[in-house]
Amino acid sequence: MHIPFDNSYAKLPPQMFTAQLPTPVKAPQMIAANADLAALLGIDPADLDTPEAAQVFAGNHIPDGATPLAQVYAGHQFGNWNPQLGDGRAVMLGEVVSTDGIRRDIQLKGSGPTPYSRGGDGRAWLGPVMREYLVSEAMHAMGVPTTRALAAVTTGEPVLREEVLPGAVIARVAQSHIRVGTFQFFASRGDLAALQALTDHVIARHYPAADGPAALLDQVIARYAALIAKWMGLGFIHGVMNTDNVSVAGETIDYGPCAFMDGFHPDSVFSAIDQLGRYAYSNQPGIGGWNMAQFATALIPLMPDRDAAIKDFTAAVHGMQEQYEAEWLKVFAAKLGIADPTQDDRALVADLLDLMAKDGADFTNTFANLGHADARDQFLNRADFDAWEERWSKRKSGDAAAIMAQANPRIVPRNHRVEEVITAGRNGDYGPFHALLAAVTTPFAPLTDKTAAFARAPTKDEQVTRTFCGT
Ligand code: AMP
Ligand code: MG
Repeated sequence: MHIPFDNSYAKLPPQMFTAQLPTPVKAPQMIAANADLAALLGIDPADLDTPEAAQVFAGNHIPDGATPLAQVYAGHQFGNWNPQLGDGRAVMLGEVVSTDGIRRDIQLKGSGPTPYSRGGDGRAWLGPVMREYLVSEAMHAMGVPTTRALAAVTTGEPVLREEVLPGAVIARVAQSHIRVGTFQFFASRGDLAALQALTDHVIARHYPAADGPAALLDQVIARYAALIAKWMGLGFIHGVMNTDNVSVAGETIDYGPCAFMDGFHPDSVFSAIDQLGRYAYSNQPGIGGWNMAQFATALIPLMPDRDAAIKDFTAAVHGMQEQYEAEWLKVFAAKLGIADPTQDDRALVADLLDLMAKDGADFTNTFANLGHADARDQFLNRADFDAWEERWSKRKSGDAAAIMAQANPRIVPRNHRVEEVITAGRNGDYGPFHALLAAVTTPFAPLTDKTAAFARAPTKDEQVTRTFCGT
């Protein structure tokens, strides 16, 4: 398999990573590969069908030009400072400049221990690998900046969690895996040389128009505000918005106990480890601001005038709220088929969300069916919904249906479906996984006999209300 590597992170100061080979596994078997993404990366999709592919994506065979390494970082986990994190179960093979001109990392996750494993086994089990594959590709198909899934393999080795589970590796692709926590690591150690080199690298790679840390901060805030607004518009809950899981390239990264809501409630939390609801649906924008405050803090040491920088960066971080609200209005106005939103439309959106929350209306299906009887069926209080619909019908644009068709997915990877395909996968049947993957990667297409079941909300018995990191 030829991968046209062009590695730049490996040339940065040595304290920023550790050269680290993946640990080979017993019997790798390919369960999924992404031909479109391979082509984007300059990999011949035909190479994905060779026996070598499983060896490469399991980490058994290192392709020419790779410089495998584990990146170091730190981070705030649930608000608590952790000075030492890093790729504990992942290695980056290297980077390619894709056919669209964008540089991207290829990383293996679940590839064995590294110096940053902190006692962990460095492995992943099949469940989280399948979940990340499905959710990241669904997010991409819905137009959300995200890491992507290039391949998934089973390792033929058991992984010990609370039970014995099948091991797996996911090959994922990102514009980079550099995190807010990467900046925090060097800032907290006073390693200004590395902090400067990292900043220069990120600006050159992701924000070439930025002329220094202040502009970098502004642009990361803008991307992150837009990203969180997109999550909100899909009823998506990331679940672990720790600063080590915040990509400075503005992509959704590190899918763990994430979930798409079925019935809407703004306080929804799925992650079993988020007992205080820090990362609940409606807290995501505020936590986003908190995370940007940590990023700003990490950039301060690079600024010649510390006091002035604190003042400017504080203002930049506070400005995120307004940017987020503008992005939120754009996202939700499109969901209502409003082409030219004004401040007055905020109430129209908020009032619908209130009605949805009161009745636990299905998030995806309410929006997907607005304007049809099926939406009304989501509500117990139909009179209030009818009144809202009348306000809406006066406000929506002439081409509302076309706008809404591109803004309201019919199919998202619902929890109960994800769990179902993981269970089948554990039994060696990947058919359900591929059927769900096909459905969630064509989220705006009209439903067919094959996909209609994936649009259906779970019954009470089918509902999955808890998700796990699975690490
Ligand atoms: P996460 O919350 O999944 O982003 O992971 C937080 C940290 O724990 C990261 O530094 C991971 O590399 C590390 N980690 C998670 N699971 C494992 C594992 N099974 N073995 C080693 N390190 C792990
Ligand atoms: Mg992480």
